[in-house]
Amino acid sequence: MTTKEWMENFLVKEPPYKEIDLTPKSLYHIGLINTLVLTHYCEKCQQLRTFKSNLRPFEDINNCHIVRFHNLIPGYSDEQWEKEYNNVFLIEFTCQHDCGEAHYITLQIANSRIQKIGEFPTFAKEEVNTKLFRYKSLISEFYPELTKAVSAYSQNMGVASFVYLRRILEHLIEGKYKQYGGTAEESKFIDKLHVVEKYEKVIPDDFNEIKNQIYSVLSKGVHEYEESECLTLVPAVKYIIESILDEELLKREKAKKTQEAKKIIQEKLHARDKKHD
Ligand SMILES: [Zn+2]
Repeated sequence: MTTKEWMENFLVKEPPYKEIDLTPKSLYHIGLINTLVLTHYCEKCQQLRTFKSNLRPFEDINNCHIVRFHNLIPGYSDEQWEKEYNNVFLIEFTCQHDCGEAHYITLQIANSRIQKIGEFPTFAKEEVNTKLFRYKSLISEFYPELTKAVSAYSQNMGVASFVYLRRILEHLIEGKYKQYGGTAEESKFIDKLHVVEKYEKVIPDDFNEIKNQIYSVLSKGVHEYEESECLTLVPAVKYIIESILDEELLKREKAKKTQEAKKIIQEKLHARDKKHD
C-alpha cells in the first residue's frame, strides 16, 4: 500500500479523535503526497462523486524536512525530527463534477501520531450517505440504529455503538431463525445464530479461521466489555452486518432480474402466439 492509499484509507475509515501511530519515516512520505482522492456523497450532485484534495496538502512537512536537512543539527536524527514534528492541516476536497461542493478534513500530527480533529460533512453523515443508505429498505425498522451506531462510534462511544450493532444483528438473526422454523427452543442469540448457520452462512467466509472468536465476541454480554474493547470490535461487527445485508441485496436484485427476464420471454412468446392465431 502506498502512503497516499494509506492516507485515503485513514481519512475514510477512521473516526475523529482516534490517534494512529505513524511508522518511522512515514512522516517524510506523507509530506510528499501530491493529491488525495476520496469518494464522497455530493449534496449538490445528489450522488457519489470523486472528490480531489488541494495540491500537496502536506507540503509543510516537506518544507520543514528541507529546512531541517539544510541546517543539520548534529545528533538530530530523522527519528527525533519525526517525533517532535507538530502541525495542523486543513485539507479541502472538491467535487470533480464542477458543481462547486467542497468538503473539509482537519488533521493533527503530533508526537508521531496522527488524528482527525475536524470533518465536514461529519464522519457519521458521510458514512450514512455513502454506504449505509442502500440498506434502508432492508432493515427499515432498525435503520436508525445503524446510523446511531456509526454516530456513537464517531464520537468514541464504543459500548453504545456495539449495543446498537448487536441489536441489528439480533434482529437479522431472529428473522432468519423464524424463517427456518426456529421454535424459540434456543433463547440466546448465539444459539439462534448456530441454528441459522446450519442452513445459511451468516459469518462471511473470509472470517473462517477466526469464526469461533467471533462467536465468543458476539455471545459475551455487553456489560462485560470495556469501552476501548468495543471501539476495537465495532468495525469488525459492522463489517459482518454489512456483509449479511449486501448478500440480501444481491439476492433481491437477482430475484428481480430473473422476474424481468421471465416476463420479457413470456411476452415475446405470447405476442408470437397471437400472430399465429
Ligand atoms: Zn458534485
